Amino acid sequence: MRLNALRFRAVLTAFATLLTAVTTWTALSAQEPATRIRATTVIDGGGKVLRNATIVVQGSKITSIDMSGNGSASYNLGQLVVMPGMIDVHSHVAWHFDQDGRYAARPGSPASEILYSAENAFVTLRAGFTTIQSPGSASDVDLRDAIARGILPGPRILTSIRQNNERSGTPAELREKVRQLKQDGADVVKIFASASIRDGGKQTMTDEQLQAVCGEANSLGMRTMVHAHSPESIKASVNAGCQQIEHGVFANDEVLKLMADKGVYFDPNVGVVLQNYLKNKAKFLGIGNYNEEGFAYMEKGLDLNKTMIKKAMATPNLKLVLGTDAVAGAHGHNADEIVERVRQGGQKPMDAIVSATSLAAKSLRLDKTVGTLAPGYEADLIAVDGDPLTDISAVTRVVFVMKGGKVYKHVAPRGATSHN
Ligand SMILES: [Zn+2]
Repeated sequence: MRLNALRFRAVLTAFATLLTAVTTWTALSAQEPATRIRATTVIDGGGKVLRNATIVVQGSKITSIDMSGNGSASYNLGQLVVMPGMIDVHSHVAWHFDQDGRYAARPGSPASEILYSAENAFVTLRAGFTTIQSPGSASDVDLRDAIARGILPGPRILTSIRQNNERSGTPAELREKVRQLKQDGADVVKIFASASIRDGGKQTMTDEQLQAVCGEANSLGMRTMVHAHSPESIKASVNAGCQQIEHGVFANDEVLKLMADKGVYFDPNVGVVLQNYLKNKAKFLGIGNYNEEGFAYMEKGLDLNKTMIKKAMATPNLKLVLGTDAVAGAHGHNADEIVERVRQGGQKPMDAIVSATSLAAKSLRLDKTVGTLAPGYEADLIAVDGDPLTDISAVTRVVFVMKGGKVYKHVAPRGATSHN
């Protein structure tokens, strides 16, 4: 008996040793060398600041954050401030001026249009945005999938493919359209509940139409984002179960509180879109509702936005996410929105960064994947020249961009002759 027991133990030990050897070998052979990114200041996206941290990246993911200060660094970013890749929940990645520098709904041949989109995507990524949501264009699907294959440089893209408005059909037809969007691979459903600010921003879709779109989307587990300017259109959208409100130039205290109470995300656009239209007026003027009257509305919109954003910031528990409504001419300037929310709205810099990282990720239901620097997350991270917590404009000076563990930008900061 005793001999048998000993023999059994010996076999077990041998088996365990073999197992350890096999496991170690498998793990070693599966691992590429880690990339280690070190910086004095790391903003984690969730509201915390880490000092003297080394972010360890294996493949596309962050595996650990080494706080020991020891070990080598593949990228020693020194005084540059590292933070998660930024997220823009509203960017029209397909919009581009045509070859004459004018805005056009179709700026060129199908081939040139997709190249314009790829150009916008590249410019956006270089500006530090590693995820965007586009509401939406049919060509977004090809662009999204091409970037996801890992060769074409660009941010992760989520798209609505198409848009729904008051002319999109009866409630039953709208429900069918939402089902079709799901089948076609849409990541979100985009809805126009109100007119453009150039047309006054009044509610356009009926309550029944809104209930149909958002109700169907909810039952299919799809997210919804609603263009809504007037208080009535915001109220109707929130009450219809829609999940995110865009623009909201005329949002008043009542609907801001309603959004906060219902946990609806709010994406006001105060820093990029109107400024870009006004700066590029000659390129838009004379096309559709881009007329003098429309531009006068947009001019007034700057002040309306200023009033609205202050109220929004003063609304407790309102979930503000970062979106720009970037159109032709605005791509690459997305971070100006963060700066203006702080300047005009008095948002705390850390809150503005959270709204552009972890909270934006949550609104996209990607909060287990991106928007935070922590083990297990995708290695989407950037470095900015300056401390955005004391000078928010630093978010516009992106000098290093990594997305999914790959470096897409690494340039010297201002005034530097070299960098390490
Ligand atoms: Zn838009």
